[in-house]
Amino acid sequence: MFTSCFSTVVPKVEVIPKTVTQMEGSNVNAVCRASGSPAPEILWNREMLSTNSEIEPFETEINLTLSGLSPDDNGRVIVCSAENMVGQSEATLQLNILFAPTIQQLLAPERDHHWCIPFTVTANPKPELQWYHENVPLQEHDYIHTMIHVSTENEDHGCLQLVNPTHIHNGEYKLVAKNKYGKDEKAVSAQFIDPPNIIRRAHALIFSTRIFPIFLLLILILHPPPPPHCVSPGTSSVISNDDDSASPLHHVSNGNNTPSSSEMGPDAVIIGMTKIPVIENPQYFRNSGIVIGLLLHPVVQHIKRHNIVLKRELGEGAFGKVFLAECYNLTPDQEKLHVAVKTLKEASESSRADFYREAELLTNLQHEHIVTFYGVCVESDPLIMVFEYMKHGDLNKFLRSHGPDAVLMADGQHSILVELTQSQMLHIAQQIAAGMVYLASQHFVHRDLATRNCLVGENLLVKIGDFGMSRDVYSTDYYRVGGHTMLPIRWMPPESIMYRRFTTESDVWSLGVVLWEIFTYGKQPWYQLSNNEVIECITQGRVLQRPRPCPKEVYDLMLGCWQREPYMRLNIKEIHSMLQSLAKASPVYLDILG
Ligand code: AMP
Repeated sequence: MFTSCFSTVVPKVEVIPKTVTQMEGSNVNAVCRASGSPAPEILWNREMLSTNSEIEPFETEINLTLSGLSPDDNGRVIVCSAENMVGQSEATLQLNILFAPTIQQLLAPERDHHWCIPFTVTANPKPELQWYHENVPLQEHDYIHTMIHVSTENEDHGCLQLVNPTHIHNGEYKLVAKNKYGKDEKAVSAQFIDPPNIIRRAHALIFSTRIFPIFLLLILILHPPPPPHCVSPGTSSVISNDDDSASPLHHVSNGNNTPSSSEMGPDAVIIGMTKIPVIENPQYFRNSGIVIGLLLHPVVQHIKRHNIVLKRELGEGAFGKVFLAECYNLTPDQEKLHVAVKTLKEASESSRADFYREAELLTNLQHEHIVTFYGVCVESDPLIMVFEYMKHGDLNKFLRSHGPDAVLMADGQHSILVELTQSQMLHIAQQIAAGMVYLASQHFVHRDLATRNCLVGENLLVKIGDFGMSRDVYSTDYYRVGGHTMLPIRWMPPESIMYRRFTTESDVWSLGVVLWEIFTYGKQPWYQLSNNEVIECITQGRVLQRPRPCPKEVYDLMLGCWQREPYMRLNIKEIHSMLQSLAKASPVYLDILG
C-alpha cells in the first residue's frame, strides 16, 4: 500500500497587528505569517480597499503596507489566508481609521410624516451634532430634535425632525458636526410656511388640525356642496350624495396620473367650488381623527352583524384574525356573498383609530386592482371590516406554493400544484402595476407594497389588498426601530431608510422588489442577509440580483425602479405599460389552478 513520505500539516496563520487605530492619511504596516506542510500559499485579500496598498512576499510571510489611509476603509477587515493541499485558514487585520467629520449632505426640508431636514455626516469617532437656527444654538426637545435613522461604521444618516413647524421656524439651519479631530458645518435655508399676512395667517389657523374640521363643517353648513351633476369637469365636491361615488375627499390631480412628489406642489382639496391647499400629506390629513369623525364616517357603509355568518379562519393580520364569511343583503342582486372579514383584536383607542382610518381609506380607493371594500360592522366588539373574498389568499403564499420547491415537494400527490410560467408572472406584475398607477393618481403613497400585501382571486386576478401592515404573520419582513415602528426595509429605497422619505417614487422602488419577489416565486429579498446587513447594502447602493427565470427586459425594469435618485426612477405609468406589452407578447394561460 502507498504511504506518504512526508507529513502534512494544515496551515496556521497569524496577522500582526490584529487591529490598527490610526489617523486618516497615515501609513500602516502589517505582516501575515503562516506555517504548514507543505508550505502554504499566503494571500492578502485587498479587493475592496480604497487605500493604496503594496505587498512584499517572503518565504513564510507577506508584509502589507497601506499608505494614506482612506476614511472609506474605516471598519474594514482585511483577510489574510494561507492554503495548502490539506486545508486553509485565515486571520484578519481590522482598520479603525480616525477622521474629522464631513457633512456629506444637508438638504432642504421635506415634508413627510413630519418635516425633516435630511443630513449625512461621516466621522470617526462619532461626532457631536449641534444645530443653529438663524445662528442661535437650537435647544432640542420633543418637537424639534435630531433623529439618526441609519448609523454605520463611518456614516450617520438622519434628519432634524420638526413637528408642525410654523413661520417662526423658517430661516437658516446650520449643522455643526465636531469630534476631537476637527469639525465641519453646512447650512440650509428652510421655508416651512409663508411669512404671515392676513390671509396666510387665516390659512395657518384654519389648517391647524384642531380647527380645520370645524371650519369644514361651517362651510358645509353655509354652502352645501352642489349636487354631483353641478360639479364642473375635473373638480369634485367634498361630500357626495350618492353612496358609490368616488372619494368624498378628492385631491386635485395635476392632470398627470403619476404625480412626482417633487413636482406635485401643495396638495389641494375642493370645497364647494373653492380650491384650498392642504398643508398635510393626504394620508395624514385623513388620519386626523376629527376630520374623519365629522366628514368621512358617513360614507363608510355599515353592515349589520346578523348579516355576517363566519365560516372559517383565513389568516391573521396586524389588526386581528381574518375569516371567510357569508354576508347577506350586501348587494341588491345577490342574496348572499362570500366575503373576507377582518376583526380588530384589541379595541384600544389607537387601534380603533387605525381601524377607522383603514376603513375610510379603503372606502375612498376603488379600482379593479385594489381589493373591494364593502364596509364595517361596528355594532359591538370585535369591530369588523368586510372585503371581497380573494380565493387564493395572499400573493406571497401563492407564489411559494406555485414555485419549483412546492411542486417538487408535492411530488405528484397534489396534481393542482403547477409551477407559474413567465407569462403568468408578467400577468401578475402587470395587475399590481395597474393598481399602483391608480394609487399614484390618487396621490396615495402605499409605503408597504410587497407580495404579502396583495391578494389572488380566481383566474389569476391580483389586487393590492392591504393598507395596514401584515406585521404579525410576516414579522421577519419587518425591522423594528425604536419601540413600535416596524419598517419593511427589504422593500425600501435608500432615502426611505435614511430619512424616512416615502413618496410615489419610493413606492416604485418597492414595486421593483415586488417584481423580484414574483420572479423568485416569493423569496424574501436579501434572504441571505441580516437586517443590519440589508441596511448597509441598500444604503451603499447594492441591488438585488437577477432571478434565474427573469427575462432581461424585466430585470431592466427592476433596475429602472432601483435608481438611487428618486427622480431617475421609472415612472409608474411607464412601468405599467412596459409590463403590459411584455405580458401581451407572451399570452397567459390562466387556468393554472385547474
Ligand atoms: P391581512 O390582515 O390583510 O394581513 O390578512 C392576513 C391574511 O388573511 C392574509 O395573508 C391572507 O392570507 C388572508 N386574507 C386577507 N384578506 C383576504 C381576502 N380578502 N380574501 C382572502 N384572504 C384574505
